[in-house]
Amino acid sequence: MQSFRRYLSAAVAIASIFTASLSFAQTVALTGVRVFDGTDKAPLDNATLLVENGRISAVGPAAQIKIPGGVQQIALKGKTVIPGLVNAHAHVQAETDTKLDVRDDLQRRLQLYASYGVTTVVSLGSSDLDELPGIELRNLQREGKADGARLYTSGKAVTGRTTEELLAALDRVSALGVDFIKLRLSDSDKDPSQESLRAVIDAAHKKGLRTAVHIFSQQDAQKALDAGVDVIGHSVRNQDVTPEFIAALKARSVPYVPTLTRDLSVFVYESTPEFFKDPFFRRGEWLYKEQIPTLTDPTYQNKVRNNPNAQAIKKALEQAKRNVKLLSDGGVSIAFGTDSGAAGNPGRWQGYFEHVELELLVESGLTPKQTLIAATSAAAKAAGLPDVGSLEVGKLADFVVLNADPLANILNTRQIDSVWIGGKRIP
Ligand SMILES: [Zn+2]
Repeated sequence: MQSFRRYLSAAVAIASIFTASLSFAQTVALTGVRVFDGTDKAPLDNATLLVENGRISAVGPAAQIKIPGGVQQIALKGKTVIPGLVNAHAHVQAETDTKLDVRDDLQRRLQLYASYGVTTVVSLGSSDLDELPGIELRNLQREGKADGARLYTSGKAVTGRTTEELLAALDRVSALGVDFIKLRLSDSDKDPSQESLRAVIDAAHKKGLRTAVHIFSQQDAQKALDAGVDVIGHSVRNQDVTPEFIAALKARSVPYVPTLTRDLSVFVYESTPEFFKDPFFRRGEWLYKEQIPTLTDPTYQNKVRNNPNAQAIKKALEQAKRNVKLLSDGGVSIAFGTDSGAAGNPGRWQGYFEHVELELLVESGLTPKQTLIAATSAAAKAAGLPDVGSLEVGKLADFVVLNADPLANILNTRQIDSVWIGGKRIP
């Protein structure tokens, strides 16, 4: 079995190399399209977007952009192009009982994200099983030998109680070559002190690594903030955020990632959710089907219904929705994340839940434009990724062509015509 798996893995690798060799640099002009570039700028109508060598070489009103002769033109009248969605808090993890080679399992998850228009994912937290395969896959992708959403990974979370434990954990993951550092606070007396947290954050910064923290309470978020953390990785869910907290986030330009669907997933399977019938959900069924039998099992649903924590999270989600509006109104940068794909937590749908997250952010009171900025340029900034997140000259040509305008109705992000990564239309 092991040797068969190795053979399968080698075959997949060879197939990927073949695909990569076909991906010659191409020049494409999208014409007549509405462009929302992911920033605060007003969208452009009847625009031209020129893509060369995988990057955006020009974008602007049709009258101002000269298309070089011989370039393939794609007329997209009536459609809207937005940057590919950037998920600043995802998980690209294999289930412990995966029957696939772990790297192949992670690869199909990146393809699933991409098929839903999520073109960059920052995986904040691996397991022993998928940490190394995740880093290998990321490396292969950078060599053009793996496809799907662009992967960045923190490896396993950096945890520990003392400064020494935290620094040892940091040294271990940084030696593996991770892109980001994930820290955790859980309102527990087992959590590290603020001093220890500061020591590990400072050490991460010296290595050029940004840090995100898992929190639940405002108190823990403030503790991490005071220790110098770069990103708040979940919602404050224990109280209304205070004006002082809002001011502190804003003063330090620390973005806030609500992950509302993370909370939804904790209680929504107390019954069979309506969205299981949604055709947009079902386009991911080739992978989602592995979890559906568990989630539709009456015993499982009963367990969720009778779980006090699950029921408490229902209220916590309402608190989270109120807080994201307060923070956004207060001028804090809201960055997109979902916690989708966290192993051992069935029903955090990679791909589909990113669109539900957008819907929940609008339900919370953000405008579609604020929501889309969060999911593109703001998430890229939070993740420290200057090459993605907006449709500006010089950026990677990662974008989604939509059949309807998401600024008019956020549900229109589901009207996907095509997804492009590095200037290439994905199959
Ligand atoms: Zn997470």
